[in-house]
Amino acid sequence: MQCTTWKFYAGTNTIGGNIISMEYGSHRLIFDMGRAFRGDVPSFDERLQPRSAMDLMAVGLAPDIAGIFQGDDRVSSMHTAIAISHCHLDHTGLLPYVRTDLPVFTSTGTHRILQVLDAVADGPRSPLSYRPVEPETWVHFGPFHLQFVPVDHGTPGASAIFIKTPDARLVYTGDLRLHGLHRDETERFITFAREFHPDVLFIEGTRSGDLGDPSENVSEHDVTRGVLEQTVRANAGVYFNVYERHPERLHAFRCAAKAANRELVLDAVTAYMYHHFEGVSDFAVWAEEDARLPEALSRWLRDTGVKQIRPSDVCGLEHVYAAQLPYSRLHYLIDIQPADGGRYLHSDGTPLGPYDPAWANMLRWLDHFGLEFVAMGSSGHATRRDLVNILEAIEPKVCMPIHSLQPWRIGSPRIPRLMPRISHVYSLTDLSGATPPTVSSFESQAPPDEPERTTGSLS
Ligand SMILES: [Zn+2]
Ligand SMILES: [Zn+2]
Repeated sequence: MQCTTWKFYAGTNTIGGNIISMEYGSHRLIFDMGRAFRGDVPSFDERLQPRSAMDLMAVGLAPDIAGIFQGDDRVSSMHTAIAISHCHLDHTGLLPYVRTDLPVFTSTGTHRILQVLDAVADGPRSPLSYRPVEPETWVHFGPFHLQFVPVDHGTPGASAIFIKTPDARLVYTGDLRLHGLHRDETERFITFAREFHPDVLFIEGTRSGDLGDPSENVSEHDVTRGVLEQTVRANAGVYFNVYERHPERLHAFRCAAKAANRELVLDAVTAYMYHHFEGVSDFAVWAEEDARLPEALSRWLRDTGVKQIRPSDVCGLEHVYAAQLPYSRLHYLIDIQPADGGRYLHSDGTPLGPYDPAWANMLRWLDHFGLEFVAMGSSGHATRRDLVNILEAIEPKVCMPIHSLQPWRIGSPRIPRLMPRISHVYSLTDLSGATPPTVSSFESQAPPDEPERTTGSLS
């Protein structure tokens, strides 16, 4: 007899890169298709590039799933579709390698940002068979019915995915939070998910390491206030580092620049994103001298006539500007020659943290030029406490924590849980074996000695 099964290929104990393949009969739905940072396998970088997905597969950076990647000669008899929760690279990083004839379901918002990123040469750049879906609208692929429900994650289009099959109801949270500017979206998702009565909730657990101290959490409103305070108080240079896939964050810097009577200067790609998502264009951009600029970006710079500033223009006039200075433009400091008392507001741009070798180098640049580093970020992920509340509010039959370095710390003594394991094939019959975790098991920072039930057959 046919039944729904699912299998985890990656992302059960990493931040992102979760790939789950769900099957029913001759159809399979795979979500998401990203790459996680992993320190345990050989990796590629700007100088060492993979030739195809086969190279990624060979070192364990892409799942070994027959028939979904370009250049893979293995034929699969399965009808396959992919669903993507949001645009971040840990959820989309493998899209450039996916076969171009496979349907790729996304929310309309995620589709739009991927298209805009493609235009400025930072997206998947692959002519994929996108199937954009309006929020909260059911679509079907064979026996699968799916729906994208918006959540707040600090990037346009971020959604949870609801899945209905002939015998199961499943919800994948994607990445989400309750301390952003759109808390109402996540709350609405929680209500919908509760009413959906899911058999299984796949829940993200990025912040499983939280210790429960409320000061651990910086809200998006805190960032807005902090940026304003820092900028208004400054009497020398103000530079900042943001993530271009979070265009709404730029509002904080634009408002602060206005309040401090400074001119906002943005990197051209960030400016393009800000303009296309928030409709704003009262800023200057760093002058682009690169002749290989993407056509869409050159045209936009030409058509809008946006003012262009060179680093040498800022030298001696730092108090006039509040300028975005991404890692790739740190050498502008050589031309700017910052005066004493300048600051660098790090607001979730890359490098993201000390695990990235570029982080230490960034700090050396700031130190060399006498700029004070100021952390000014807000996580796109719910606190551990919020995750537990979300889980208890939705009350699925069983939860399976993913997207986490300490997944055992995500759970509730009220909700049965199965700890997902790579390559096990799960079905609804496994759910009856799930038990709620004990408080001691999910309060521990160390993995539990006794593995919890991970029923399912190896395949
Ligand atoms: Zn993620
Ligand atoms: Zn994300």
